[in-house]
Amino acid sequence: PVTVGVLALQGGVGEHIALLKKAATHIASSHGTTTSSPKGGIIEFNFVEVRTAEQLARTDALIIPGGESTTMAIVARRLGLLDPLRHFVKVDHKPVWGTCAGLVMLAEEASATKQGGQELVGGLDVRVLRNRYGTQIQSFVAELDLPFLGDGEKPFRGVFIRAPVVEEIMSRSAAGESDHVAEPAANGNSNNTTEPVQVLGVFRKPGATGEPDEDVVAVRQRNVFGTSFHPELTDDIRIHTWWLGQVLAAVRHGDLVVSKTE
Ligand code: GLN
Repeated sequence: PVTVGVLALQGGVGEHIALLKKAATHIASSHGTTTSSPKGGIIEFNFVEVRTAEQLARTDALIIPGGESTTMAIVARRLGLLDPLRHFVKVDHKPVWGTCAGLVMLAEEASATKQGGQELVGGLDVRVLRNRYGTQIQSFVAELDLPFLGDGEKPFRGVFIRAPVVEEIMSRSAAGESDHVAEPAANGNSNNTTEPVQVLGVFRKPGATGEPDEDVVAVRQRNVFGTSFHPELTDDIRIHTWWLGQVLAAVRHGDLVVSKTE
């Protein structure tokens, strides 16, 4: 099976697992089987909570949920998980999806509104701006057009809670952008030097003046996907379904080798 983990140090863990299960059921029912492996066997999913390095080592793909990225980083450091997480994302290149605080964790850089520096996992060559829309009580829901879900899909209800946005893409591969030199960081920090950050979703703010009226709220770079908002707080399984589809595609293409017990 493909073991899909949700990092369970803090934050919205159960909601992700519930939606992952619904998405897997949907995939299984629409394809007859979950999917087939290169050898023709059926691939199934196994969903687990990840709290230790041992559990992470048995995980093929990971969601880092929303919550509080500073807390999550402190707990991960204490449990000896930060370096294993970095290895998972940037050396093994296993599929990872971060929602909200999870997106912050997956950014190479975060600029806080008030907070100081914090440890990150990295993997996305972006700088995020934390708490872009203010405090908890300024949380909101906005309809988002997410073309990656497919043409003609209805808008996705984006739940934004103290959400970060991507304020800069440090695409090392973008032609003509020589500010950011195409050198792997000496500390192995860069997820990769060849695959660009793709913008998968923007939030167009209604009637904003004097500031950019578009925020980048969904990005992908190679194996790493991040969203500013919380699909797990809706009952819309489309993004979870899409992401599990990406995981299965990685298995089919041989980019992700899963345990032999299928
Ligand atoms: N503001 C939080 C952070 O920076 C994220 C909030 C959330 O995940 N809902 O970590």
